Amino acid sequence: TTPYGKLQNVRITSPGAKIPLGLKPGPKRIVVTGGAGFVGSHLVDRLIERGDSVIVVDNLFTGRKENVMHHFGNPRFELIRHDVVEPLLLEVDQIYHLACPASPVHYKFNPVKTIKTNVVGTLNMLGLAKRVGARFLLTSTSEVYGDPLQHPQVETYWGNVNPIGVRSCYDEGKRTAETLAMDYHRGANVEVRIARIFNTYGPRMCIDDGRVVSNFVAQALRKEPMTVYGDGKQTRSFQYVSDLVEGLMRLMEGEHVGPFNLGNPGEFTMLELAEVVKEVIDPTATIEYKPNTQDDPHKRKPDITKAKNLLGWEPKISLRQGLPLMVSDFRKRIFGNSKQALR
Ligand code: NAD
Ligand code: UDP
Ligand code: UDP
Repeated sequence: TTPYGKLQNVRITSPGAKIPLGLKPGPKRIVVTGGAGFVGSHLVDRLIERGDSVIVVDNLFTGRKENVMHHFGNPRFELIRHDVVEPLLLEVDQIYHLACPASPVHYKFNPVKTIKTNVVGTLNMLGLAKRVGARFLLTSTSEVYGDPLQHPQVETYWGNVNPIGVRSCYDEGKRTAETLAMDYHRGANVEVRIARIFNTYGPRMCIDDGRVVSNFVAQALRKEPMTVYGDGKQTRSFQYVSDLVEGLMRLMEGEHVGPFNLGNPGEFTMLELAEVVKEVIDPTATIEYKPNTQDDPHKRKPDITKAKNLLGWEPKISLRQGLPLMVSDFRKRIFGNSKQALR
């Protein structure tokens, strides 16, 4: 039988069922909220490849149908245009909850909506997990550490977050989402998993989403100067998307709640990142300094000892290996089939 055929035999949960179906072996029914976005669509590819049935729930705010279009017509795939701020009834085994804009430009665009997505959206998905006995994974963020006073950041660090700043809708929203996940875990026995994701890049990122890697790559390809905010000495640690997806799946399938840092410990200043982009795309690329944004964290680097020890996970792809993979995707999307795309 096809994997879809086998799925016909899977027990359908009744409302109120408490058996954790997340533990069931074989193909699973999985919801990926935010599955039409950058990270979500790569996760969907892996789950479909593994034989699972996947329902993407996405309002297409920053996600694109193009990211998942290659699954249209597959009976194991479904795309539902839905805003997680509204309640939703589904019968599934696992919920990967990614729905939330990730680029600072996008999440600051409508900050109240960002908070609602993180708080009400996460509450709804936890309510769904509780009702059907599904396992729930939250994609939290390194932003919960704010402008960190501890370096590198360990999961036990409580962070240094401004509650009333322009980034708070995201930082505090995700912190509340973590709180909700832990309260549903402790109070309603929902099986939860929490990932704290550090800066991730790769194919399918929105070309003009304002994040630093996508900005530098698009600018260098278009022969525009790379915009360095502030003095460019602030640091970030950049993870290739396939490493993240592997970490998320190990976390979901494993027995540990977390939180777990998922990131690549390779740390770069923005000036160093610009140098790597120059090496990969165009040695003549230039940079242009711009004023920095408010509350920009000065440094960020994950301590991944916990994920190494308990999930057996660590990233495999360095920035110099991963960047060319993203560049070829950006080249195609920016230039189409013109000569520059083929360079
Ligand atoms: P993205 O913006 O590409 O994807 C987010 C997806 O969620 C989009 O498809 C968007 O349309 C959808 N969405 C947003 N609000 C929604 C709502 N109210 N209802 C339904 N769908 C909604 O971002 P991404 O980089 O793929 O990030 C995915 C998740 O990982 C986010 O939760 C983000 O906070 C987290 N994360 C990402 C990074 C990173 O560097 N990419 C770092 C830390 C955390
Ligand atoms: N919820 C949902 N889908 C479900 C179950 C619940 O969207 O299958 C929503 C529900 O509308 C509520 C939230 O999740 O707003 C929290 O649900 P829970 O049952 O935990 O709390 P209650 O409904 O008792 O407030
Ligand atoms: N940044 C930059 N130039 C850009 C975009 C961002 O120098 O065109 C800097 C930004 O000030 C921050 C870092 O790059 O210090 C990472 O920003 P991004 O928005 O990618 O993610 P963040 O980690 O801040 O969420």
